[in-house]
Amino acid sequence: MKINETRRNDTRAYHSATHLLHESLRRVLGTHVTQKGSLVEPTRLRFDFSHMKPISNEEIDKIESFVNSMVSKKSDVRTRLMTPDEAVENGALALFGEKYGDEVRVLSMGDDNGKYFSTELCGGTHVKNTGDIGKFKIINQSSIAAGVRRIEALRDKQLEDYLKNKEKLSNLSSEKNDKLIKDLTKQIISLGGKPNVEETDQKSLIKNLIKQLDTLLVKSILNDKTKNKIKDEEIKGIKIRFQNVMAATKRIKKTVDNGKKDLGEGIVVVFACKDDKVGVAVGITDKLTNKFDAVKFVKLSSEIIGGQGGGGRKDFAQAGGQDQSKINEAYEKIKSLI
Ligand SMILES: [Zn+2]
Repeated sequence: MKINETRRNDTRAYHSATHLLHESLRRVLGTHVTQKGSLVEPTRLRFDFSHMKPISNEEIDKIESFVNSMVSKKSDVRTRLMTPDEAVENGALALFGEKYGDEVRVLSMGDDNGKYFSTELCGGTHVKNTGDIGKFKIINQSSIAAGVRRIEALRDKQLEDYLKNKEKLSNLSSEKNDKLIKDLTKQIISLGGKPNVEETDQKSLIKNLIKQLDTLLVKSILNDKTKNKIKDEEIKGIKIRFQNVMAATKRIKKTVDNGKKDLGEGIVVVFACKDDKVGVAVGITDKLTNKFDAVKFVKLSSEIIGGQGGGGRKDFAQAGGQDQSKINEAYEKIKSLI
């Protein structure tokens, strides 16, 4: 019984808030604003209306303060029965082009310097006093169709809960970020780096630290002979390098370029293994591209490691695959083409 009563009161308050919102939208955005749909529940309200563009934060502030000032003035809500003509005289909205009987129900509320702030035809139930609505806030806006925008708003208890929850979440995420920053810093130091902590805002700081750590990780992998195997050989007078790196393929091109520089002239074949994936890249120095084609090499070797296609140019191409155990076989295939 008690719960139902609370729900009814809340629904009433959301309904009344919808009327204040409608009028506030017209005052802030313009009189082109007309209602296209409305949902009133005991826990929220939703209002759809004609408007062409997103509502700016400044406009939202103004709309909210219109509604909230009407709430804080605590004026009585008035329902009157009158003829349609009288209703129009009293400024009631939404009378045009519709048929009404002899009498209509006109709802007025809000104190606008002694005049009613909002006057509309309405048969629904409302609060007795605008003070019963409580604090009001728009929590979302979106576009639901061309020229139709949707506003979602909360009031009183539901608004309090919403704001409390939001604060909790933001505290949680800043705690999480703090921990992440500490972890990243530790890892950077353990790899012999010096964390750059100049950024003041948490998000850019985290982004920078991750980048820094990434560079250090690649460096440490390249310096670790168990994680970076390099074998240089010569076939029919052509220098060829085989390299197998335990890292993601992100820097595979750079690794190939470095190999090319080391060889001066020749062919560089790099396999990059991370988790259960393997990438292959082939680089061929300029003078040799009239004899060999990196795209062809990559295609044939990626078939062996269980990949498909791949692509690039004559001097550099890359592809992905799945089967790390076939790396040697794939490399032998390339060698057989020289
Ligand atoms: Zn109404």
